[in-house]
Amino acid sequence: MANRERLLKTLMDLIRIDSPTGEEDAMDQEVTARLQALGFTVHHDSFNNVIAKLDGVGEPVLLSAHLDTVEPGRGIKPVLHGDTLRSDGTTILGGDCKAGVSIILEGITSVLESGAQHLPVEVAFSRAEEGGLVGVHHMDFGRLSAKRGVVFDAEGGVNRITVAAPSQNVVKAYIQGRAAHAGLEPEKGISAVLIAAHILTQLPLGRIDSETTSNIGRIEGGLKRNIIPETAYMDGEIRSRDQSKLNQYTQQFREVFDRVAALYPEAKVSLEIENTYYSFNVDASHPTVGMISRALADAGLKPQLEGSGGGSDANVFFENGIAALPVGIGVRAFHTKEETVIIPEVLEGAEVCQRIIQGL
Ligand SMILES: [Zn+2]
Repeated sequence: MANRERLLKTLMDLIRIDSPTGEEDAMDQEVTARLQALGFTVHHDSFNNVIAKLDGVGEPVLLSAHLDTVEPGRGIKPVLHGDTLRSDGTTILGGDCKAGVSIILEGITSVLESGAQHLPVEVAFSRAEEGGLVGVHHMDFGRLSAKRGVVFDAEGGVNRITVAAPSQNVVKAYIQGRAAHAGLEPEKGISAVLIAAHILTQLPLGRIDSETTSNIGRIEGGLKRNIIPETAYMDGEIRSRDQSKLNQYTQQFREVFDRVAALYPEAKVSLEIENTYYSFNVDASHPTVGMISRALADAGLKPQLEGSGGGSDANVFFENGIAALPVGIGVRAFHTKEETVIIPEVLEGAEVCQRIIQGL
């Protein structure tokens, strides 16, 4: 059985190890030592993601979380108020994703302690997840044989299973106009900022439908008050849980840029659209949902299937043939100084993790 005191200590210990994105070495050493002590063979791939294996009986299962945190995430002081863990208010807490890592470690520890038979376990701890799923994109998938798994990295309780997540296209546009003195000869100039504004008013933006969103999050352009702006830059994204809708709106973006560019033949509008991760979308009959639901039921919990608006390592696992679904890790207010971890929910996470490892 999962042990609250041990779990809480693991969580506090991990939270006290600084691991902002790109500086995961200390956290890596700690989890590597802990996994080795539990009998795992630990490997590091070329990006130094942690891939660890423990023999067992049956079909292997993947358990995953990430090692990095967002900023401000240095010198974190976790403070326990009853059942809730918070930072001292000057930093994030780092429950994302240290609650996930702790759940996995406690789940494994309690299975081994019980002496029960268990499945072969593969643990993948990625780096630089918060940097845009960078670590998992470099993961050595040849080392993993599991075809299903769980990513411990979602909001709320462990009963919340993410069954659909979007695909994301990143949109970058560079507009080249022509500079001219704004007071002396403005008619000679072509304002790149005006072209950007023209494009912006024509794009489908915001919530497009229940599974599709888009945003232009940054615009830069111009130099000085009295110069017609020569260049402008736009940075945005389109996301959808439905790949065909993503393609459709991406096409619409291209058409808007082309149409507006045609109005300014002397300007140059270049558009780059690049996919960063692909969507997944499964239903209640999917074997991974079944695996998690059985473990939840055995722990007295009811599964809640949800669609997410964000990508996670799970998107890249799916892309590589591993049906790993995200579940909640007892964390609220991700990426803020108000981030909290609800300890009884983390404990439930470990109870469910233990049952998944046992193949219940
Ligand atoms: Zn996370």
